[in-house]
Amino acid sequence: MTPTSLLDLDRDQLAAACADEPPYRVDQIWRGLYERAARPAEMTDLPLALRRRLSEDFAPALTEITRRTSADGGTVKWLWRLHDDRAVETVLMHYDERVTVCVSTQAGCAMGCGFCATGQAGFERHLSTGEIVAQVLEARRAAAPRRVSNVVFMGMGEPLANYDRTWAAIERIHDDMGISARHITVSTVGLVPGIERLATERLPVNLAVSLHAADDELRDRLVPVNRRWPLEELARACEHHRVATGRRLSFEWALIDGVNDRPDDARRLAAYAKRLRAHVNLIPLNPTPGWPTRGTPPAGVRAFRDALARRGVNVTVRRNRGADIEAACGQLRVERRPRNARATSETPTDSILER
Ligand code: SAH
Ligand code: SF4
Repeated sequence: MTPTSLLDLDRDQLAAACADEPPYRVDQIWRGLYERAARPAEMTDLPLALRRRLSEDFAPALTEITRRTSADGGTVKWLWRLHDDRAVETVLMHYDERVTVCVSTQAGCAMGCGFCATGQAGFERHLSTGEIVAQVLEARRAAAPRRVSNVVFMGMGEPLANYDRTWAAIERIHDDMGISARHITVSTVGLVPGIERLATERLPVNLAVSLHAADDELRDRLVPVNRRWPLEELARACEHHRVATGRRLSFEWALIDGVNDRPDDARRLAAYAKRLRAHVNLIPLNPTPGWPTRGTPPAGVRAFRDALARRGVNVTVRRNRGADIEAACGQLRVERRPRNARATSETPTDSILER
C-alpha cells in the first residue's frame, strides 16, 4: 500500500492506475467516489477483484481518531490522522435550512494570529487535495440522509497559503460532488495575492476575510500578516474580487473585550465595510489556551452590533456552534502532539506569496 489515497488522483491518474480495466471503469469509480461518497469496498457495481485491489493499493486519506458530538447533536467534530501521523480537524454543522462542513487546509498554520488556537500551535504541513476533499466526503457520509449543502474553508490553516491544492479541491467539490460555487466560502486572513488570484478563477466562490481590526496599528498586532498587506491594499483586492465575481464579501470580527470593541472600532469598521459593501459577522472571541483576554460580554456584543447597524452596515452575530466540544471558531487545535511529529522541510506558504 502506498501512502497515496485514491482521492489524490485526478481522472488521468486514475485511468493510468486502471489501465488494465475497461475504460468505463474509470467513470464508475469516479462517480462512486464523488457522487456517492462510497469507499472502494462499497462499490458493488465493480468486480470484487477490482474492489479488493483498490482497497489494498491505496490508503485512506483520513483515519478517524475521535468524533465528538455536541450535546444538542447539531455539531460534530472529527480529529483525523493523516498518513504521516499528523492530525487535523473537521466540523459538521446541522442547521434547519442547511448543512455546513468546515474544512481544514493545513495541519497547523504559519500566520501567527495570537488569539487563534491553530496559530498558537504553528505550522506543520499543507494538506493534499485528497485530504481536503476527503473531509467533505466524510461529512457527507455522516450527514446522510441530509445533504451537505455548504462548504466553508474555515478550519485549520490558511487556504490561500495552500492555494493550488485548495483550488483543486474546490473544483472537485463543485464539479464532481455538485456543490454550487455560491455555497462555497473561502476564508482568509488577508493574503492579497491569493485574493487577486481567486478573483480570476472560473468558479465565483464567496470570500470571507478575517478582519478583526480596521486600523493598521491594531491589525498589525492582532493579525501579523497585515504588516505585509495593510488595510488599503486589502481593500483593493476585496473590491476586485467582489466586482469580478459578483459574490458577497464578508468580514469576520472576533470581539475581544476592550481591544477591538470600542466605539471607535465600530466607527472605523463601519466605514471600511460600507465602502466595500461587505457583510460583517461578529463573534465574541472564544477562549484559547494561549490568549488570556476574554471575548466581549453579550451586552457589549449587542452594543457593537447596533453601532454598526445604525451606520447602515449589514451585520449579524454569528451563532457560536460547538463550544462544548471545542469546535467553535478559533478553537481547532490538535491537543496531542502526533506520534513521530518532526520539523517539516516544506515551506509554510506556496509560491503565491512570492509573486
Ligand atoms: N486562516 C483562515 C481560515 C481559518 S477561519 C482565516 O483566518 O480566515 C477561522 C476563523 O476563526 C477566522 O475568522 C479566525 O479569525 C477566527 N478565529 C480565530 N481564533 C478565534 C477565536 N479565538 N475566537 C473566535 N474566532 C476566532
Ligand atoms: Fe491561521 Fe486563520 Fe488562525 Fe490566523 S486565524 S492563525 S490565519 S487559522
